[in-house]
Amino acid sequence: MTKKRKLKVIFISGFFILLTLMYNFSHKYFIDNYEAIETIHNKKSVENLIKNLNMQLDFINTTTKIYSKWDDAYNFLANKNPKFAYKNFRNSNILDNLPIDFIFYTDLKNNIKLKFSIANHNDKFYKKVVKLLNADKETQSVFLEKNNIYYVLKSKVLQTDYSGKKIGYMYAGKLFDENLFSYINSSFYKIDLVQKELYDYDSAISYNSLNNIRYKVEKTKTKIINYLEIRDDKNRYIVTIKAMSDRDYMMQGTNTILLFNIIIAIISLVIFYFSYRYQIILESNTQKLEYSVAKRTNELEKSNKELHDLAYKDYLTKLDNRRSFFSKVQRLLKDTVFRKDLVHIVMIDIDNFKQINDTYSHEVGDVVLKKFAQILKNNISNKDICARLGGEEFVIAFHNLQTKDVLEKVENIRKETEETAIIVNKDKTFNFTASFGISDNRKTNNIDKILHIADSYLYEVKTTGKNNIRYR
Ligand code: GH3
Ligand code: MG
Ligand code: MG
Repeated sequence: MTKKRKLKVIFISGFFILLTLMYNFSHKYFIDNYEAIETIHNKKSVENLIKNLNMQLDFINTTTKIYSKWDDAYNFLANKNPKFAYKNFRNSNILDNLPIDFIFYTDLKNNIKLKFSIANHNDKFYKKVVKLLNADKETQSVFLEKNNIYYVLKSKVLQTDYSGKKIGYMYAGKLFDENLFSYINSSFYKIDLVQKELYDYDSAISYNSLNNIRYKVEKTKTKIINYLEIRDDKNRYIVTIKAMSDRDYMMQGTNTILLFNIIIAIISLVIFYFSYRYQIILESNTQKLEYSVAKRTNELEKSNKELHDLAYKDYLTKLDNRRSFFSKVQRLLKDTVFRKDLVHIVMIDIDNFKQINDTYSHEVGDVVLKKFAQILKNNISNKDICARLGGEEFVIAFHNLQTKDVLEKVENIRKETEETAIIVNKDKTFNFTASFGISDNRKTNNIDKILHIADSYLYEVKTTGKNNIRYR
């Protein structure tokens, strides 16, 4: 993988890790908060609903009870006021002024003396109400009859004088219907009455008119459903109010978090992109720098080698020069002292070289020198040292070879030299020869002494006809 790709992978995965962390964190933190707010808000709405319902029933209770506290009513039940019914309930509008759906009076023996209702209830219905509220006290309850839920109350009919004598009872009722819920509810989009008895519940709420309401919340993805179970004053199950609302808080919350995450994503994308670009630029600059450093190093190495060659190589033949030869051969002789390796030194001088220069020009002389250097290179191994000492003088140090092998090699050089034709032009060629003096380190390890001996042997060859080899 290239560095650029690696960077890309690192940045992209970094970006997505950050995004996932951010998303999870915001969801966990904010959604939990929204959920808590929603729960509190919903509970308040439920409490408000019950409070309003209770207030409504309290209102019914107090307004209606006034009707039982009149002397008119007392006198009616005492059979002294026959016009009571005509005066108070002569037209059906009368109940419109009262927040109730039915009203009836009984004597102390529960005989119905007067009844009035919007829906024509039969006596059985009234008897049931009487039976439900059979305690001898002012009381109220809820009452289920043919799928209708009524809030019912019972009040004593008393004489208003000091005696406060009781003569009968007044009963009244109010139907739980949509009308009732529409003005006590401002929080729920739908309220239904359902038959669903709660066996487990979250809490219980209790007010004057409605005691023992069991409360339970259920949540779906989009809705909150509150169940409010209503029981009568004898703790018998009557009905359950099902109040539903949308999960607006959660919806709002999710949208807000989504928006928040999108903004964070865009910002971090920009930041990641620019730091990625910056890294790339940095990387390419580093590469450029590395390249130019490498180039410079290369150039330095090259010029170092050139300097080295200038100092240690002969420019014409590319053989070692005098300085290089002496340093190498001295090291070799030093190493061989203990090992007692045999080192042969061969001094070489091209014959009649001045004449070659004079006859064919200096340039041709140079060609001869180069040609001869090539012949020498062809006949030595890389552990041998070969150098041009100056002019047409050469030297070879053979390491660890038997004398007969050295002699054989030198003879090969001499012969190859003799047989090598130098081309002057297409009509003219000539041959040249060289003379060889050989010495070794058997008697001394001093290079000057060894060279001196080899030189003296060479001199002897020169004076005895040249193109020959002398050893000892
Ligand atoms: P001998 O056979 O006795 O060795 O005679 P010689 O002519 O070879 O020896 P001498 O020492 O008289 O001549 C050497 C000549 O080599 C003299 C010089 O001009 C020539 N020479 C030295 N260096 C160079 C060089 O680099 N190139 C050429 N072309 N000639 C060179
Ligand atoms: Mg010479
Ligand atoms: Mg010579």
